[in-house]
Amino acid sequence: MSTTLAPTKTSTRPSGAASGSSHSKSVGSARQAAISAVTNYAVNSPPIEFADSIAQDYYSTNVFSKSVMKDRLPKSIYKSVMMTIESGEKLDPTVADIVASAMKDWAMEKGATHYAHIFYPLTGATAEKHDSFLSPTSDGSTLSEFSGKQLIQGEPDGSSFPTGGIRVTSQARGYTIWDVTSPAYILENPNGNTLCIPTAFVSWTGEALDKKTPVLRSMQALNKQAQRILKLFGHQDGSFVASTAGPEQEYFLVDRHFFFARPDLLNAGRTLFGCKPPKGQEFDDHYFGAIPERVLAFMLDAERELFKLGIPVKTRHNEVAPGQFEIAPVFESANLAADHQQLMMLTLDRVAKKYGMACLMHEKPFAGVNGSGKHVNWSLGSSSQGNMLDPGDTPHDNAQFLVFCAAVIRAVHLHQGLLRAVVATAGNDHRLGANEAPPAIISIFLGDQLTDIFEQIKAGGASSSIDSGTLTVGADVLPLFPKDAGDRNRTSPFAFTGNRFEFRAVGSNQSIAGPLVAINTIVAESLDYCATKLEEEMQGDPQLLNTAVQSLLTEVINEHSAIIFNGDGYSDEWHVEAEERGLLNLKTTADALPYLHTPEVQQMFAKYGVLSNRELESRLETYLEQYCLTVDVEANLSVSMARKLIFPAAIRYQNELAAACANLTLVGIDFDTDTLDSVTALVKGLQDGIVRLEHAIADHSATTPVEEARHRCDAVLPSMLMVRNYVDKLESIVADDLWPLPTYQEMLFIK
Ligand code: ADP
Ligand code: MG
Repeated sequence: MSTTLAPTKTSTRPSGAASGSSHSKSVGSARQAAISAVTNYAVNSPPIEFADSIAQDYYSTNVFSKSVMKDRLPKSIYKSVMMTIESGEKLDPTVADIVASAMKDWAMEKGATHYAHIFYPLTGATAEKHDSFLSPTSDGSTLSEFSGKQLIQGEPDGSSFPTGGIRVTSQARGYTIWDVTSPAYILENPNGNTLCIPTAFVSWTGEALDKKTPVLRSMQALNKQAQRILKLFGHQDGSFVASTAGPEQEYFLVDRHFFFARPDLLNAGRTLFGCKPPKGQEFDDHYFGAIPERVLAFMLDAERELFKLGIPVKTRHNEVAPGQFEIAPVFESANLAADHQQLMMLTLDRVAKKYGMACLMHEKPFAGVNGSGKHVNWSLGSSSQGNMLDPGDTPHDNAQFLVFCAAVIRAVHLHQGLLRAVVATAGNDHRLGANEAPPAIISIFLGDQLTDIFEQIKAGGASSSIDSGTLTVGADVLPLFPKDAGDRNRTSPFAFTGNRFEFRAVGSNQSIAGPLVAINTIVAESLDYCATKLEEEMQGDPQLLNTAVQSLLTEVINEHSAIIFNGDGYSDEWHVEAEERGLLNLKTTADALPYLHTPEVQQMFAKYGVLSNRELESRLETYLEQYCLTVDVEANLSVSMARKLIFPAAIRYQNELAAACANLTLVGIDFDTDTLDSVTALVKGLQDGIVRLEHAIADHSATTPVEEARHRCDAVLPSMLMVRNYVDKLESIVADDLWPLPTYQEMLFIK
C-alpha cells in the first residue's frame, strides 16, 4: 500500500448557497481503492519451476496410496486391507495398529506433526479435528504415538453440528470412524503438515450424522442388487459393483479487493444487489475463450496441488458467464469422488487467495448472468464387467445394458421428487427454473438411438440400432471420424451421455454426497425390482432369459416413458406438457424438501439400510433449517447494506441535485428536476421496501420447520427482491463516483 496520501483539498465552494455533499470525496472510496488495487495487481508468489518437476513425479505423492501401503505393510495386512477397499469386505479390526504405525511413519517422514480426522457434517462443509502425534512421558520428554485405536476412532466435541434432533447437546457424544476406502493424505502448510484421515461421523447410538455414512451404505445396497442382475446374465465372479461419479465443478473468480468491498459476497457468497452490466454474456465470447493469464496461473497451481493429493483433474475451461470457469476430474468410485470433490472445493478456494482472487462456488453469485452447477456424471461398474451403462455398438442386442438402463429410467420416474429434493438449497433455487440450468422438472434425456430402441421394444422387440455413422465436414484436409450416437441436450436435468447419466441439477456449492446417495438407492431399488421379476419369470432356466428381459423392458417402458423427454427443457410448452404427463414441477426448496420424507422414500431408505426414519427426518429438519438460516443472513444483509451503503449514497446524490437546482435557480436558470424527481421516488420506494423487509424478517408466526421455510420463500425473498429492485434502479441513476459498491462490470471484467 502507498504510504503517501494526497493532502485533502479545502473546499473552494462559496458559502451561502446550498451545498452538495461534503463527503463526496470519500464516498465510494472502498470501491475506488479496490479498482486501483486490482489494476495494479502483481503476482507475489514465485513461479512454479514446472520444468523441474513433471506431473508423473508428484502425482499422488501426498497420498497414503495403495502403492505406499504395498511397500510399507506386511503382505497379509496389505491383502486384508485391499479386500475391504476393492471388494467391500468387512474390515478386520486387527489390522489397525499396524496400518496406523505405517501411516504415522510415512506422514512424519513427510513432515507431519499432527493427524486429523476429516468428516463431512450435514452442513455440506468439511470438518477436521487435529491432534498432535506427541504425547508427554513421565520423565518430562515426549513420545510420538499413533495407535490403531486413534486411527479407527475419534471423538470430536462437535455438539454444535446440525443433527436435526438426533443429538441434543446433553447427549452430544459423536464418533469419527476411519474410512479405509478413502485414502489418508497429507495437507501441506508452509509451517508444518498434517496427516488427514477421511472418516464417517456417527452418534453414540450409531446414527449417521454426516454425508459419508449413507454414501457407503448406498454403495453397498447398489452392489448387492447389481450382483443379482449380473448373476442372471451368467456373471458370477462377484467383483464389487461400485457406483462411479465424475463431478464437473463450475465456479467464478473475482479479485479479492472487490470481494472485500462487497459485504454481500463476503457474507452470503452472492451479490444481493447489482445492475446487469451493459455487456454480459450475450456475445458468447467467454465460453471456451482464451483463459486469462492470471486465471491460468491459478488453475495450473491448483491442479498441481490436486495432483499431489491424487485427485485426477483433467479438464479446464472458461464457462458461459464472464469470470466463470469449470474444472472436472476423471471419474472415481462414488465415495472417493465425493471426498475428493470436497477437497477440490477447499483447494480451489485456498489457491485462489494466493493469486489475489476469491473463488465463488455459489450457484448464483450474479443475477442476469449464468449461474454455476455441478454436473454429477454417474454410472456403475466393476473390475471384471466394466461399465454397466456402456451400450456398445449395437445396444439393441445388449440385453444386460438395456436392463440396467431401464432400471435407471424406472428409478428416476418413481423418485423424481426425491431427486429434486436432494438438489434443493437456497442457492440452487436461483438457478433451477431460470433458463440457464435444467428446469425444476426432473426428466431424462435418452438421445435418438436409445429412444428409438425403447420405442422398438414397446412395439414388440428391438431389432436394430440407429447407426451413428461418420461425420463429414466438407473440407478434405479434415479427418473423418465416427459420430457419437446421440447429440447433447444441455436443457435436460438427467441426461444419458453415451456411457453414463449426467445429473445436471446439482448446485455448484453442494456436497455431491446427497445426490449420490439418492441415485444409488433408487437404482438399487429398481434393480431389486428387475431382478425379482426376471428371477420369477425364469425360474432358474437360463434359456428363458431373453423372453423374461423382453417382457420386463416392455413393462418398464410402458409404465415409465413419461419421464423421457428429449426436447427443449427451457420451453414454456414443456411446462405444460410435463404437467399433462403427471411430472412434478417443484419450483422452490420449500416445495421440494418435503419430498425427502414421503412414506415411499422412508420405506425405501429403511429397506436398503441407507437411512433410518430418524436419520431421514433429521436430515429434512437440518436442510430446512439451513435454508431458513441462509435466507435470514441474506435478508439481514439486504437491510443493512440498503440502509448503510445505498441509502446514504442516494441521499448524497439527491442532495447534489437539489443543491444544483437551488444554485441555478438563484442565478435565474431553470433546472429540469426529472432526475431529482426519479431519485426522490426511488429513495422513498427504497425506504418503504426496507421497512417491508424488516417486517417480513420479524414475522415469527410460523410454527413448523416447513412453514418457516414457506415464510422465507413466500414473504422474505420477495421483499428482498423489492428492495433490490430499488437499489438496482438507483445504481443506474446515481453518479458513479458516489456509488459505494463495486459494479458487476468491474467484478466480472477487470482481471
Ligand atoms: P462433458 O463436457 O462431456 O460433460 P467433461 O469432461 O467436462 O465432459 O466431464 C465428463 C465427466 O464424466 C468426467 O468427470 C468424466 O470422468 C465423467 N465420466 C466418464 N465416464 C464416467 C463413468 N463411467 N461414470 C461416472 N463418470 C464418468
Ligand atoms: Mg462438461
